[in-house]
Amino acid sequence: MSQTMWAMVCTGPGRPLVRQERPLPQPGPGQVLIAVEVCGVCRTDLHLVDGELPDPPWPVVPGHEIVGRVAALGPGATRWSLGQRVGVPWLGWTCGECRFCRSGRENLCVRARFTGYQIDGGYASHTVADERFCFPLPEESEPEHLAPLLCAGLIGFRALRLAGPGRRLGVYGFGAAAHLVAQVAQAEGREVYALTRPGDNEAQDFARSLGAAWAGGSDQTPPEPLDAALLFAPVGALVPTALRHLDKGGCVVCAGIHMSDIPSFPYAWLWGERSVRSVANLTREDGEAFFGRVRQAPLQTHVEVYPLAQANEVLQHLRSGQVQGAAVLRVA
Ligand SMILES: [Zn+2]
Ligand SMILES: [Zn+2]
Repeated sequence: MSQTMWAMVCTGPGRPLVRQERPLPQPGPGQVLIAVEVCGVCRTDLHLVDGELPDPPWPVVPGHEIVGRVAALGPGATRWSLGQRVGVPWLGWTCGECRFCRSGRENLCVRARFTGYQIDGGYASHTVADERFCFPLPEESEPEHLAPLLCAGLIGFRALRLAGPGRRLGVYGFGAAAHLVAQVAQAEGREVYALTRPGDNEAQDFARSLGAAWAGGSDQTPPEPLDAALLFAPVGALVPTALRHLDKGGCVVCAGIHMSDIPSFPYAWLWGERSVRSVANLTREDGEAFFGRVRQAPLQTHVEVYPLAQANEVLQHLRSGQVQGAAVLRVA
């Protein structure tokens, strides 16, 4: 094995990623070294490089939708075997001891560390991960179709669980997460109403092609009141918009890590037991439940694949809304 690796590194907020050669890292106790096959591009990566997340330990290697193969085992690492395919998600480490970890809410761990943020991520030929936080992935699937499941799929799934059992589901922002959660929701017998940027006919056609009952711009009103709304677009103004689309008792779930400010709105829009909440990170239990479901009913992932060296261009595409489905970076 070569003793060096390369990565696309973010050296500070607002700066383009730069290609760097580094010594190959050694996995520590309980860790594995992973040879990255592909890494998905998430909107959170954009918030990171734009300096919208608190206190990143620059320089940072982004990327938390990692599909790769185990290339070396650290001392005491026994969960995986050499050459096995694993997935590395956003949740990279938790303390196991705090009030949140001890109450089944490790997604809120006070000392949590996240992949591609506090831990160098998958925009790289190699990465190191705690073996307890990796997921097993099918060997026979194309890796680029697995990558978006590791954040977009998982966060969408957690958001759907938190939205309650309502039948009419609004989805605001029809990108990587929405196109996966729409399929999960429809398999559960729900109806999906997709709201996109006003005038984005391509995204609306895309939503209809995946079975959405209705698709329109966020300046339009869905034909039926919604039981729940999932917000994937990082636009605070969509919170009052979605509240106005909700039936009584409905919930708006904000699924992004960062959002522009939410404008004020009349209390009457919240009245009627409507609620607004966020969804933060994931637990390993979310992952087990989600991947269990995907094994039974595979999801169609729509991906655009690019070489890792083009990460800057891909982030720009995502920023300007040019990505249909999910963008994935391939190392080779
Ligand atoms: Zn904890
Ligand atoms: Zn993500």
